[in-house]
Amino acid sequence: PHVAAPDPQAGAAVKAADRAHVFHSWSAQGLIDPLAVAGAEGSYFWDYDGNRYLDFTSGLVYTNIGYQHPKVVAAIQEQAGKLATFAPAFAVDVRSEAARLIAERTPGDLDKIFFTNGGAEAVENAVRMARLHTGRHKVLSAFRSYHGATSTAINLTGDPRRWASDTGSAGVVRFWAPFLYRSPFYSETEQQECERALAHLEDTIAFEGPATIAAIILETVPGTAGIMTPPPGYLAGVRAICDKYGIVFVLDEVMAGFGRTGKWFAAEHFDVVPDLMTFAKGVNSGYVPLGGVAINAEIAATFDKRPYPGGLTYSGHPLACAAAVATIQVMEDEKVVEHAAHLGENVLGPGLRELAERHPSVGEVRGMGVFWALELVRNRETREPLVPYNAAGEAAAPMAALGAAAKKNGLWPFINMNRTHAVPACNASEAEVKEGLAALDAALSVADEYTA
Ligand code: PLP
Repeated sequence: PHVAAPDPQAGAAVKAADRAHVFHSWSAQGLIDPLAVAGAEGSYFWDYDGNRYLDFTSGLVYTNIGYQHPKVVAAIQEQAGKLATFAPAFAVDVRSEAARLIAERTPGDLDKIFFTNGGAEAVENAVRMARLHTGRHKVLSAFRSYHGATSTAINLTGDPRRWASDTGSAGVVRFWAPFLYRSPFYSETEQQECERALAHLEDTIAFEGPATIAAIILETVPGTAGIMTPPPGYLAGVRAICDKYGIVFVLDEVMAGFGRTGKWFAAEHFDVVPDLMTFAKGVNSGYVPLGGVAINAEIAATFDKRPYPGGLTYSGHPLACAAAVATIQVMEDEKVVEHAAHLGENVLGPGLRELAERHPSVGEVRGMGVFWALELVRNRETREPLVPYNAAGEAAAPMAALGAAAKKNGLWPFINMNRTHAVPACNASEAEVKEGLAALDAALSVADEYTA
């Protein structure tokens, strides 16, 4: 991809306008210095100063087919010329086509699609459906999770971003999902972790009152919280517990879905079919905001004769749906899902493991497909995190130093707490992934200086 000719003046103007009027997510407005982006293509983006970055974040883990894929851009342009928008109560060709393509790829009988504008709204609506379907109120969600930033979604979220906005009134009960490296159950094997996590979940249900619980929501593979692949048998065990107590099982595939793990949906790795599945991000590589809930036949039937009390002005927006149809077509034609699996098995996974061998700051490497995390530690024996949980400012300096080193080497990294995630586009080339690994190698040497 090309890099635009440097134009620092234009970059400064873009940044000044941003600082004047754009209020940024998750940020202290007076302390941030957002990079002014001049353009992007494939796995790269560039600024106005002549710097090009390999994007190992896929935006916010959503540009699954990279930036500016010509076929998706063309499909959006074509749809804009044909029918740029139409209200959700009408049948529109591109909307039904997107729903069909998604339903054909989701597992089991998840055959009806409720469209939203993104992941959090998908979670809100999945919870509403589960409550109305069961007539129960409580929802169980895991610590070490992220489900979005709207009212119920942030309450369901297990990470510290919840703390400031938790209303405590959403009927949410949190439990520990399995994570062997920092086992909440002091397990030593995957099998122990699986058994103990399932016993803990069932205990939680018993003490909360099974007949009060509408749903259990889990990310199939928790993403933002650290890409923690569940042990074999865990999700099947949760499925069985849900069936036993009549609880709706919601899998949140907003981040893990659409090729990220090397399958269309991460649930396929574990042979489980949830009752509801949320998606967003990769469904159309984020070119136009889109998310949704895939609904099974039983829950869909609840709303056959009784109206579903929920909706959004832009539900199934034609531009977003056209982007989804084109993205799914591209993923089929270019075998993007298979490629993501190949990268995970043969390039990215082995490459990260090789880095872990050489860098004492790497405590654990986890992941699959193009969905990987390096957990960084001060000491491999004690597993003390390289920075404390929820560290900010000076306390987070080692991670900031790693980030700065990566950027100096042309890599835009994904950093969260004591982890750096490697989440390139599903269609990144082998050469691009290797380039990212080389930059990470250099950045990890900086992190190594903080080990003890
Ligand atoms: N669920 C999961 C698993 C996510 O990773 C995210 C976003 O990162 C969300 C929900 C929220 O999606 P959105 O930011 O589109 O509202």
